[in-house]
Order: sequence, then structure tokens, then C-alpha cells
Amino acid sequence: MNALDLISVVTQIIYVLIFISVALRAARQPTTAHTDMALFFGAVAFIILVSRLAALVGTTPPAWLTALEIAILMALPYILLRLVDDFTNVRTWVKRASELGLAAGIVAIYAAGPTVTPVLLYVVVYFFVLSVFCAIAFIRAARRSRGVTRRRMEAISLGSILIGTGILIAGLTPMARPDDRAVLQALGQLLFLGSGVAYYLGFAPPPILRRAWQEPELRTFLARAASLPRLPTTLHIVRELEQGAANSTGTAARIGLWQDDTSKLRFWEDDDSTLDLEPGKHFAGRAFELQRPIFSTNPIRDNPDGAASYRSRGVGAVLAAPITAGERRLGVLTLSAQRPPIFAGSDIELASLLADQAAVILESRALIDHAARVRAREEATRLKEDFLSAAAHDLKTPLTTVVAQAEFLERRATRDPNAPADLAGIQRVVRESKRLAGLVGDLLDATRLEQGRLVGEREPVDLATLAQEICAHDTADPGNCQVEATAPVVGEYDRRRVEQLFQNLIENARKYSPERTPIRIKVWQQDREARVSVEDSGIGIPAADLPRIFERFSRASNVDDRRFHGMGLGLFICRGIVEEHGGRIWVESEVGKGSTFHVALPIADGRRLN
Ligand code: ADP
Repeated sequence: MNALDLISVVTQIIYVLIFISVALRAARQPTTAHTDMALFFGAVAFIILVSRLAALVGTTPPAWLTALEIAILMALPYILLRLVDDFTNVRTWVKRASELGLAAGIVAIYAAGPTVTPVLLYVVVYFFVLSVFCAIAFIRAARRSRGVTRRRMEAISLGSILIGTGILIAGLTPMARPDDRAVLQALGQLLFLGSGVAYYLGFAPPPILRRAWQEPELRTFLARAASLPRLPTTLHIVRELEQGAANSTGTAARIGLWQDDTSKLRFWEDDDSTLDLEPGKHFAGRAFELQRPIFSTNPIRDNPDGAASYRSRGVGAVLAAPITAGERRLGVLTLSAQRPPIFAGSDIELASLLADQAAVILESRALIDHAARVRAREEATRLKEDFLSAAAHDLKTPLTTVVAQAEFLERRATRDPNAPADLAGIQRVVRESKRLAGLVGDLLDATRLEQGRLVGEREPVDLATLAQEICAHDTADPGNCQVEATAPVVGEYDRRRVEQLFQNLIENARKYSPERTPIRIKVWQQDREARVSVEDSGIGIPAADLPRIFERFSRASNVDDRRFHGMGLGLFICRGIVEEHGGRIWVESEVGKGSTFHVALPIADGRRLN
């Protein structure tokens, strides 16, 4: 056996193997495309078988058999064209012309004999032209497809070019000069071998190659997938998954999610309106109920209920795969295309892979949501506990003083009814009771603030005058409260609350500063805002505590309960008052140097009394 014979045998083995593979597939999944593939390679296998038998017997085959062989050979590119027509529309005139050409060829083969030069020329040119046409159709379809399907189409396109050229060369060889024949024969054999390998990769690729071809698309999909669970809403995730699945498969993709409350699958239309589907209905419902992929190459026949929609959207194939995480049935992924995919198996595999990925992403999302709910619950519980312990602790101190002092006064009065009143004791009871009332007031205000109803009726208030009045009544250290205001600054405010705001800020300035240090208050108007600042030269606030100083129960790390009483509600209430008025509050502070609290309140009509 020489090298050419070896190439020829290898080529024939490859073609026969492809035939066995596609025939088995056609038996398992008898789609039109699968049947056409089996027909194509069946015809090739038949030609190979006949030529092998003839070689074995050692006689020239009878003329009718040779004619049959040539006729079948001529039919090959026509079958290929049918295959092209299975997944993309071949123009009717092309189909008719190829049928006519085939019929004319067969008639010529039988009438004039297959080995007559013009007939042979006609056959090989017909073969070549149609193969090139199919190769172009495959390559164009490949451009529109993704992943495995794309690579397989490219391989088939290459195979068709090679077999077409091989036949052309084989047909022309007998007409060539005797010296050139050997070279042409070798070239022809090599082209056939190339076509065999390309067809093998296209029509029966081994699983390892399929996985490798699938990888780039999956990789792109997975690269996006990692960030998906953190998208703001589940609908955002669904949209991204649909887009990813559509890109990876080259089809239209929809995802339906199972709704526990309605026991239905929910799909989102392009305008975000929803469509609920019962399990068991349509392909999606069936795939969900059966928990396995469902594939239809004739959706109008297989699901008459959806026929109108398939017709209007021009859907010719549907694939639905369940999205399931372990035991949890999460939803369905459906892919729809205008034409049945040529390689249904690859597409089902890919759809199942994508559905599995979608399940992982949706599960992660559910876990994130669950964790957020748990955190929110824990936070609420923590706040309630903080509130109770802070309230109990802060109310207890003045209450203990009041009770102890009152008991002492009672004992004293019982023992000696005529003794002069213990003024200092009574004053302590009054002071601590007031503090108690203040704390209870703060707690109530904090609750009102939560409900957004801290600020009541508004009236014109001159902030400059108000600041002066409060300073004048600053019993703690009246002389050291200084107001700087050159003109009245009037806005519509809840007078009582703004008073409370000023008092809180001044009290804090006093509380967190050494005795007898001045507190400077400035009131002015800037643009269309009333501006107030309260400045002290006290202990200041550490930079790390500044961001949360206006939060509920928040106290800076440089204050302790023994030296500075407080619950951490004052600034929280101040911020509530300011923000309910539509304003802003902030602080500048440096430890050991002092703090300046700034307030900006809107002046609705820009009025400024001069
Ligand atoms: P309280 O004074 O009852 O602790 P506040 O809400 O009024 O609660 O203040 C919160 C915290 O802000 C205080 O505990 C203190 O650490 C800090 N703070 C507020 N005002 C001043 C100030 N003028 N100087 C220094 N620290 C201040």
C-alpha cells in the first residue's frame, strides 16, 4: 500500500465513522437536520462501500453501478443545501435551480454514460458550485452564531470547500496531461482527507473539543456573573442573565422566576410589565414541572396554546431549561430562535450550563438578601436594647438623687416639723427633676423624630433676636454667651423647636468646655440661607467620631459618663429639627481646641428685615 492509498483509506474510515455517529444521533433525535446529515454521510458511505467491494472483487463494476455512484455523488451537495435550508432560508429559486441541475445531470449520466467527458465535467462543476454556495451559507450562519455552534459551522464550511475542490480536481485529472495526473491525484486525496477531518470536527466533534469551544462564551458569561448578585434588584439580575444567555447562544433569552406566594413563574416583558405562568403550561412551565430541559423544533405543533405568539414572533424553535439550585426550584431559562438550531445537542448542553450558572447567581442573591434582612433585624434589636439601656441608665441617676433627697427631706420634716426648710436640698430635687423631665423629653422627641413629626406649626422667627434671648437667659454663665448678629435673619420656623436647637447647642458648648470660657454665637444670612454658628473652646471631638456624632446615642470617645452626663440624643434631635426644616447641620472640631457647630436653614422667601 502506497502513501496515497493510506490517505484514501484513512479518509474513508473518517467518513464512515462520521456516518455512524450522525446516524445514531438521527435515530435518537430524528430532527430534519439530523436526518439530512445522516443522508449526506450515508450517501458518502455507500459510495465508499461500493468502491471498496469493487476493489476487493477485483472487477470493474457494471456500468449501471458506476452510474448510480456518480448520481449519488452528484446528489451530495444538494443534500448539503437541504441542510443549509434547515437552519437558514435558502432562496426558492436556488433550491429549484439546484433540483433542476441535479435532475438534468442524472438524466445525462444515464443517457450518455457517466464517464463521457462533458457529463463528467457537468457533474464536477455542479458539485463544486453548489459546495461553495453551501460553504458560504455555513460561514455566514457561523458569523451569526456563538460558541460551539459557530466553530462547528466554520468547520463544515471548510469541509465543503475542500470536498468541492477535491471533486473538481478529481474530475479534471483524467483530462490533464499524464505527467500532471499523479500530482493532481495526490492533491485531490489530500483535499478529501482535509474535508473528512473538517467534517468530523463539524458534524461529530469529540466532547473535549466541544468543551474547549464552549469555554470562551462561558468565560465571558462567568466574568460578568461574579458581580451580578450585587446588582440593586432581582430584576436587574434577571435582565443581565437574559442578556448573557442571549449573547452566549445567539438566541432570544427569557428567564422566569418561581414566586412562592402565587405558585407561578414570573416573566418580565421588555417594558418591565410582568407575566405569570402556571407550572405545566407552555414549554417553560413544563420544563419547570418536569425539571428537565425541553426542546422543540416545531413549537406551533408541540404547544398549540402559544401558536399565535410563536407565529407573530416568527419563533421556529424553543428550548426551556429549569433553573435549580440543589432542591430549590428557582425558575426557568427559555431560549427561542427563528430556526431550529442545527446542533440541538450542543445548544441544550449550553442552555443547561447557563441555567446552572443562573441558579448559582440567583441563590447568591437570595443569600445576600437574607443576610441583609438578618442584619437589619439585628440592628433594630440592638437599637432597641441601646435605647432601653441608655434610657434606664440615664433616668436612673437623677431619679435616685430625687428619691434619696426627697426621703431625706421627708425624714427631716417628720423628725423636726418646725426646722427651717432645707433650701439647698429642695433646689437639688428641683434641678434633678428638671433634668429627668429633660431626658424624658429627649426620648419622646427622638421617637417623634423617627416618625418625622418633630416640627410643628411655623411662623416668622428672627433667629438673631432668638439667639440673643436664649443667651440672656443662659443661667449657667450669662456673661460668657456672646451673640454676633448685625441684622435680623427671619425665616418661617417652628419657634419652639429652633429654640430647642439653640439651647441644645449652647448647653453642649457649655458642658464640654472649661468653666468661664466664652461661647460665641453668630447669626447671619448668606445667599438664601440663614446661617448660625455656635463656637466654643472646649474639649473638641476626635476626628474619628465626627462622622457619627449626629447619630442616635452617639457619644465621642473623649467623654465619659462620670464627668459628662448625657445620652447622645441632643445632636440627633438637633439634626432632626434642622433637616425637617429643610436645612443642614455640621461641625468643625479639633480635640483640645474647641468645636464650631454650623446650621444652615432655608429662608423661603428670602425675606430679610432691616
Ligand atoms: P450628649 O451631650 O447627651 O452626650 P449630644 O447628642 O448632645 O449628646 O452630643 C453627642 C456627643 O457629641 C457628645 O457626647 C459629645 O461627645 C459630642 N459633643 C457635642 N457637642 C460638643 C461640644 N460642643 N464639644 C465637644 N463635644 C461635643
